[in-house]
Amino acid sequence: MEIHIFNTFIHPQASQQVNKVLDSTFISEGKLVKEFETRLSGTFGLPYPVALNSGTSALHLALELAGIGENDEVILPAQTFVATGLTILQVKAVPVFADVDYQTGNISIDSLKSKITPRTKAIMPVHWGGYPCDMDEIAAIAAAHGLIIIEDAAHALGATYKNKPIGSLSEYTCFSFQAIKHLTTGDGGAISFKKSEDSTRAMTRRWFGIDRQNSALSILGERQYDIKQLGFKYHMNDYAAALGIANMEGFSERLSMRRHIAKYYFDNLGNIPGLQLFSYKKDRESAFWLFGLHVEKREDFIRAMKEKGIVTSVIHQRIDGNSVFGGLKDLPVQEKFDNTQIHIPIHDGMDIDKAEYVVNSIKQGW
Ligand SMILES: *Cc1c(COP(=O)(O)O)cnc(C)c1O
Repeated sequence: MEIHIFNTFIHPQASQQVNKVLDSTFISEGKLVKEFETRLSGTFGLPYPVALNSGTSALHLALELAGIGENDEVILPAQTFVATGLTILQVKAVPVFADVDYQTGNISIDSLKSKITPRTKAIMPVHWGGYPCDMDEIAAIAAAHGLIIIEDAAHALGATYKNKPIGSLSEYTCFSFQAIKHLTTGDGGAISFKKSEDSTRAMTRRWFGIDRQNSALSILGERQYDIKQLGFKYHMNDYAAALGIANMEGFSERLSMRRHIAKYYFDNLGNIPGLQLFSYKKDRESAFWLFGLHVEKREDFIRAMKEKGIVTSVIHQRIDGNSVFGGLKDLPVQEKFDNTQIHIPIHDGMDIDKAEYVVNSIKQGW
């Protein structure tokens, strides 16, 4: 048996739907992007989603829209992908790395509090592996200090916190539709806004800062516009949207299967010496983009799994050590997390038989 750590889910109907767009030759942003946004709203409970060309564009545009700039401090966890930190640098702000919770990989509330200074402007929590952060606590801290929350929900499409969808909690929530994420458009992303005015601002700034709704073509053959604020080329295009729409079909069944597999792992890996499962609170539901845990003798574990044909991975190690971020910070729990964290397969190419094979392989030891 061969079980990879990720798969790319492409719906069997997708090529037909994408081909229709190609045949039409209307491949840039058009009615399918609009339809994709409408469906994001309906399927995932996102109040005002705006589709973009990547999750990284979503994070960058959210920071721009939030007015984060030079010398502002933005607090983020070190346990994430580099995109989260790089976008903070792109707006010339200062990434301030907080420690994580050993049990989840999510930002530690105590550490977050300790990193606040008069220059702090925003918090970027990351729902590691799709497991929602302590959003009530984060919202209370943000309210007390006048901070903006920009969620990096690249792993968390379909997750819920106290019965509310991730994407409906904060002013800005950023999603990714990159190839190995839950829902792919090839590359793509979205920001979910709570206020419709913010989504309108985003639609202008995702396309050079040109207000398409209010800039008609003149006799000269170009739209008449005045760019008032710096814009970007961040819009999604229609063939990506067609792929996304096709891939949405059956999403909730696939998410249920992930949760079913996760439950199987929790039920069967609880009492294994040298292995500690992540903790899981009942007031939230993970999207299970990943299934993480801690193991002793990690390299032996990775090799033993590899011999059984099972790929395991740390996915990402702490990002603060990159030179661009100024090198490793003093984050004791992150350090401990980094030494033992590992992820076992959970994705749309899995079923319970495969999960059973993973469990049995682990039970044989390493
Ligand atoms: C995938 C990912 C991103 C970036 O998304 P892209 O669509 O690849 O630009 C950002 N943050 C995290 C945590 C991710 O996993």
